[in-house]
Amino acid sequence: MDQPEIQQIAADILVIGSGPAGLTAALYAARAGQRTVILTGKSSSKLDLDYAVENYPGFVSIKSRELLDRFKDHALHFGAEIIEADAMDINLSMDPKYVVTKEHMIEARAVIVATGRPAPAKDRISGEERFIGLGVSYCATCDGPLYRGRQVLAVGNSDEAAEDVLALEQMGVHVEWMTGDGKATTGPEELLDEVKAKGIRFRPDSRVREIRGEGRVQEVDVEEAGEIRTTRPDAVFIFRNIPFSSLYSKAGLKIDHRSCVLTDTTQKTNLDGVYAAGDITCGGMQIVTAAGEGARAAMSALKFLRGKT
Ligand SMILES: Cc1cc2nc3c(=O)[nH]c(=O)nc-3n(C[C@H](O)[C@H](O)[C@H](O)COP(=O)(O)OP(=O)(O)OC[C@H]3O[C@@H](n4cnc5c(N)ncnc54)[C@H](O)[C@@H]3O)c2cc1C
Repeated sequence: MDQPEIQQIAADILVIGSGPAGLTAALYAARAGQRTVILTGKSSSKLDLDYAVENYPGFVSIKSRELLDRFKDHALHFGAEIIEADAMDINLSMDPKYVVTKEHMIEARAVIVATGRPAPAKDRISGEERFIGLGVSYCATCDGPLYRGRQVLAVGNSDEAAEDVLALEQMGVHVEWMTGDGKATTGPEELLDEVKAKGIRFRPDSRVREIRGEGRVQEVDVEEAGEIRTTRPDAVFIFRNIPFSSLYSKAGLKIDHRSCVLTDTTQKTNLDGVYAAGDITCGGMQIVTAAGEGARAAMSALKFLRGKT
């Protein structure tokens, strides 16, 4: 299995999220002549649910998906570029800022965060968020080489998780894979056959329950057939949705008790050159307010860049 090449990209303004907030921000930024990159996550915008919208000005009634397509076409028309990948790691306090996906290292002078309503943390493993970057990773490509020759647990049940487990094995990491629900991936049998053929320890009946340690991952409780056993891996790789609000707070962004990103009235966050817009700020929770905040965030980012050049 080939490792994906890491592509380096330099943007003036990076927009994370491609709902009404992100796409409006991108439209303003690109139209102002800035190299604008939109990172669109694997999860989709709320508009992709395809409901009827009757309160967006200019349309008595429009399907939300059609409105989303129009926002997207508009941003692309003015030169915004789209990358389809989840942000997996972010460093927002530096200048420039860096955002890492599985296959990209994106450098940007300003960043607009527009990733929508914060997700409830229902599937989180106890301790997971505390150890992000301290032995908990969501990215085999980014962090796998750090654990060459060491023992790690992998969690997740999808084709992608299987690919990531194989990638870890290829990097020389000793990986034990737990799907936790008694099942293998729902995808192609060949992937699972490949996992088994490589001698990767595959435990469909085991579930990671708790991650503990002093300063980094040291102990993990695993549940098997109703019994808890404690293991001591060097890291835990979790291959499913990233708890984005945790990444934001680790990156130094101030968030409130609802995991909403805090901004001032210009959409500026507590970090220079970083803005937030749309449902992530828990503002109006409407398309029109998300678009409005996106426009304002872009104007603030443009002003910030003018001050720097
Ligand atoms: C059923 C339903 C009906 C609704 N009806 C209406 C209505 O009639 N009128 C109205 O005004 N509003 C309505 N809303 C609310 C409206 O959909 C939201 O307010 C709006 O979509 C918010 O826009 P946003 O850009 O902030 O976030 P979203 O539209 O949720 O977009 C978030 C974007 O962030 C991306 N993302 C997430 N995580 C990552 C990551 N890690 N890396 C990169 N990108 C990421 C997602 O892929 C997505 O593109 C409705 C919502 C629902 C659920």
